[in-house]
Amino acid sequence: MQKRCSIPSRRSTSDAEELQSVSFFNDLWPNKAQSAGAKRYHCGNGNRLSESDCGMRDGSIKKLTLTAALAALVFTSGAGADDIQLPDMGSPADAVLSKSDENRFGRAIMAQIRQTGQVVEDPLITEYINEIGHRIGAHANDGSHKFEFFVVDDVRINAFALPGGYIGVHTGLLEATRNEDELAGVLGHEIAHVTQRHIARAIHANQRQSILSTALMLGAMVVAAAGGSSDAVRAGIAVAQGTAIQSQINFTRSNEYEADRIGIGALNDAGYDPHGMASFFEVMSRQQPATPELRAPEFLRTHPVTTARIAEAHNRAQEYPRRQSSDSTNYGIARARIIVERFDTAAEAIAYFETRDYEKQTDIDRYGRAVAYQRAGRHVDANRIFDELIDADQKVIAYHIGLAETQLELEQYAAGKETFDRAVELFPRNVPLIITYGEFLIRLGEPDKAHALLLDLMNNVAPTPEQVRLIARAASESGDAAEAYYYMSEYELMTGDLINGIRYLQRALTLPGLQEIQKIRFEARIDFIREYMTEEQLRQMQRTRPGQSLAGNVG
Ligand SMILES: [Zn+2]
Repeated sequence: MQKRCSIPSRRSTSDAEELQSVSFFNDLWPNKAQSAGAKRYHCGNGNRLSESDCGMRDGSIKKLTLTAALAALVFTSGAGADDIQLPDMGSPADAVLSKSDENRFGRAIMAQIRQTGQVVEDPLITEYINEIGHRIGAHANDGSHKFEFFVVDDVRINAFALPGGYIGVHTGLLEATRNEDELAGVLGHEIAHVTQRHIARAIHANQRQSILSTALMLGAMVVAAAGGSSDAVRAGIAVAQGTAIQSQINFTRSNEYEADRIGIGALNDAGYDPHGMASFFEVMSRQQPATPELRAPEFLRTHPVTTARIAEAHNRAQEYPRRQSSDSTNYGIARARIIVERFDTAAEAIAYFETRDYEKQTDIDRYGRAVAYQRAGRHVDANRIFDELIDADQKVIAYHIGLAETQLELEQYAAGKETFDRAVELFPRNVPLIITYGEFLIRLGEPDKAHALLLDLMNNVAPTPEQVRLIARAASESGDAAEAYYYMSEYELMTGDLINGIRYLQRALTLPGLQEIQKIRFEARIDFIREYMTEEQLRQMQRTRPGQSLAGNVG
């Protein structure tokens, strides 16, 4: 994979110094040498942060604790697989894996997937996949299931459902869809696997012991990956991405048909063409082994597409009125951003979007062209396009973000902030907008304003771990060390590291001038986290003194 993080930027060289100047925060982020590269969209829209901010954290010690952390998260505190109490009553799915166990299991796997650094952090892409996913989910759900959708940076055509309602879609699949209805079809299918409790049922079929072996295997693989051999790393990533889970959890053919049936109904109810699913199956069935990476589309492997299945999906769709739906602008924007990043170089991305004359291009193609120019550092060209796009359609948030980004890159600071402020008025609490604005405000030396904006957002919309890390940075740079540590603690918990979660809080408690209310809050949080720790984790906590541990583990 191409290692690339920051677009050429005047700031990229000074970012490291900028972090160094915040003395107590040095150990919250790895330094440049340690950070593995990440694609630009992993670091948030437009990548205003330095490599050290957005790079995948090394954390080898952190990974060693995963097996234990996983066990703690999967099972109720301190219990092993053999201790799982099987209720006599209830559905077969509940009998093997209660919903809360399933949620814990899902959270643990999700934390590991995030550790691989393969989750796309571009807020515009994340926002879009959740927008469409929740729209369909709302029609397939009696309200008892929660969903979280995410995009994985992987060219293979795949999508998967994890325990607990986490649904992942590869960038390769998103790009392979020919229209939004096809993407909706895939999501509808995966959503149905969740609502029908197929995962719990499949684990039931594999015997409950496999829950433990799967959990342990995941932990072991990630530990192996921390050793550094590229094969091991790849294996670890593959495991974490759920492929191993998928092979452990073989949905039955009747599960697959049921997911098709329920998914098609949800598709229709959500306003998409119910033929979208069958249509994507056709794309899959035509997949030729063109490149080694596409040789075995994962979705095909776990979802064998036969002529009979395609026909059946079409027949199901016939039960509903045919629907003429057009792609949403946000579908086009998410797809364009993925395509720009898929190329190894900015020049190739530009060539792709310059294939057609500008005059003949759709707005989405023009947007893709502008983002490709941004990637190449051609901000004047990008700026002109964003300007025109806004003139044509004021309602598209991504255009405003693009305009503001290019204005700031061109050192038109007042104009850039004005663009952001106007957009925030038009679209209050829009996640991609606030995140991008927050990143810029930190960069422009206004961390207080960034902190306030991000906090308001976080209090209203559940943040991703990267967003929590961003607010930690804003708090740190505005001199609020206690809150910065608190947010970093939350970040560690979200990524599955309970020990470091506690250590940040302990460190916050040593700060001079701490308010009584903060002290109470931090101590209560420590007690809460302890409840979820295993004996081994508690012992590990005692072995190291609070002060010495963080730099060693995180730095
Ligand atoms: Zn399936």
